[in-house]
Amino acid sequence: MAMHLEEIDAIANNPEPPTFENTIVALEDAGRDLDRAQVYYRIWSGNVSSPEFREIQQEMAPKLAEFRTKIRQNKALFERIKSVYEGEEMESLRPDQQRLVWLVYDGFARNGATLEGEAKQRYAAITQRLAELYTKFSNNVLADEEGYVTYLTEDQLSGLPDSLVKAAAAAATERGHEGEYAITNTRSSMDPFLTYSKERDLREKIWRTYYSRGDNGDEHDNNALIPEILALRNERVQLLGYDNYAQWRLEDRMAKTPEGAFGLMETVWPAAVARAQEEVADMQAIADAEGAGIQIEPWDYRYYAEKVRQAKYDLDSEEVKQYLQLENLREAMFFMAGEVFNFAFEAVPEGSVPVFQEDVRVWEVTDRTSGDHVGLWYLDPYARTGKRSGAWATTYRTHENIDGEITVLGSNNSNFIKGAPGEPVLISWDDATTLFHEFGHALHYLSSTVDYPTLNGGVRDYTEFQSQILERWLATDPIIDTYLIHVETGEPMPEELVAKIKNAAKFNQGFSTTEYLASAIMDMKYHTMDPTGLDVDAFEKATLAEMNMPDEIVMRHRSPHFGHIFSGEGYSAGYYGYMWADVLTADAAEAFREAPGGFYDKELTKKMVEQLFAVRNSVDPAEAYRAFRGSDAEVGALMRDRGFPEPGK
Ligand SMILES: [Zn+2]
Repeated sequence: MAMHLEEIDAIANNPEPPTFENTIVALEDAGRDLDRAQVYYRIWSGNVSSPEFREIQQEMAPKLAEFRTKIRQNKALFERIKSVYEGEEMESLRPDQQRLVWLVYDGFARNGATLEGEAKQRYAAITQRLAELYTKFSNNVLADEEGYVTYLTEDQLSGLPDSLVKAAAAAATERGHEGEYAITNTRSSMDPFLTYSKERDLREKIWRTYYSRGDNGDEHDNNALIPEILALRNERVQLLGYDNYAQWRLEDRMAKTPEGAFGLMETVWPAAVARAQEEVADMQAIADAEGAGIQIEPWDYRYYAEKVRQAKYDLDSEEVKQYLQLENLREAMFFMAGEVFNFAFEAVPEGSVPVFQEDVRVWEVTDRTSGDHVGLWYLDPYARTGKRSGAWATTYRTHENIDGEITVLGSNNSNFIKGAPGEPVLISWDDATTLFHEFGHALHYLSSTVDYPTLNGGVRDYTEFQSQILERWLATDPIIDTYLIHVETGEPMPEELVAKIKNAAKFNQGFSTTEYLASAIMDMKYHTMDPTGLDVDAFEKATLAEMNMPDEIVMRHRSPHFGHIFSGEGYSAGYYGYMWADVLTADAAEAFREAPGGFYDKELTKKMVEQLFAVRNSVDPAEAYRAFRGSDAEVGALMRDRGFPEPGK
């Protein structure tokens, strides 16, 4: 941090008049040592965390925030940036350079650089306190995910597939409970347990434990943190002249305003709820036919949904899994990257690239035609203690070309349960889709051709588009025929089963859209309201009731563990972004369906890579999309995609 501040001072106090080169480019070129240190810091926090490391984070978070504020509030530096932004040189710059100047200027102006005196000090104090609260929030959730484990005995396993039983046995042994079965408090354990367990009481217990994370009234309870976070966020943006946090947050997003985001969500919400009610009716019919004598509750949803899936769509998740081998899917992704991005992947010799854990593997990415080096791709596939849950993509280094080209180090991370040595890891269709999704983020990093680091930045409601569209390649014929082969027979997935999967794609869309939208709408409500005296649980309950939320569904992320919006600001007033990007995805997928060569159409894939991937944030996203499609995306594509009736049709 001290080294970076020295560089900043040299730029701010340069006796030469400010220019694009000596100010904007110099800033882009500064802070390299700190960047490298932070790569390791992020790996420690995301992939190999420990109680000791969490203490360090708690100590470092406010210091890092203070450091960033120091740079943003450097008056002399901001004056120079402003001079370049408003100066004559601007006109002579290339469009990507002009955008860079604007992004840098805006990044300062939107983050307190224009403030003076008391307001400036208050701004810095708020930022520091928020950083502390974010770390606390996220560590509380992690503590509840690790701290609440449900141990089962052999007679409590009815309905569970073998793979889950094996994983639960291993998880129990790892925790010193040999002979028992551990259901850990993460989505990857909860979800399959609720789908298959025949023990209704246990389903309820696991469901309650999972959806109570951060809400247990103990030392890891997050309820008190939320109003404080919301109040501080509002106060901070009010210092800059905004009404509320969401208004500030959305200004440079595709949606532009909270109303823009609400507009989309409110168009889709009634259709999602109506579909969810139809789904519940289907489930209730099955429960009644079985003589179960129950009313569908939230902990029954996944269990009966699976029965509906089998009855109505005749699709057995376990059967599908037999065709989804992790290593084959990875090969399938490489194939797709070859056809669409012209990339070749080759494993680096073992030991030639350092890794932070023995399971992490590395591939070199090259251009198929020229053989030019593009970057390295890391894969950290397996779950372990200290690794955050879910799946994600990240970079250790991004593309740039200031003093010569710097290539990309991109990584995909997931939480698959490691199989016994030599045994293939079988995953679900959803997990396979997620694998392609995260690989889409990695391809977005790898295909970057931008010259300046800042231009690699993502626009939150746009940056999920590139990953979501990539999911669509999983169910294409060349991949099905070659890579989705049965683990024992080696036969490709039969056409019948493929047709069933495609048919079932619209299955449960009521549930998934409703659980997601409930969280997204709540996020936007939190960030447009006055949080004074907020009682989180009561507000959540009242708001959901007002929205006509079905009783059988819970928010995908309840407020006390909604890390997307309270562990930082990545998705705060931005969780809607997934759906915004989904409109683009559905619309772009229709373009591929209409193309003569479908998803492998040479012309259209080239256009996609050039207009929508390679440019990263060097072009305004709305313009980039128009360049690809010839028009804006329309919400009707999303409704058709999910099998919802289109409004007005
Ligand atoms: Zn994503």
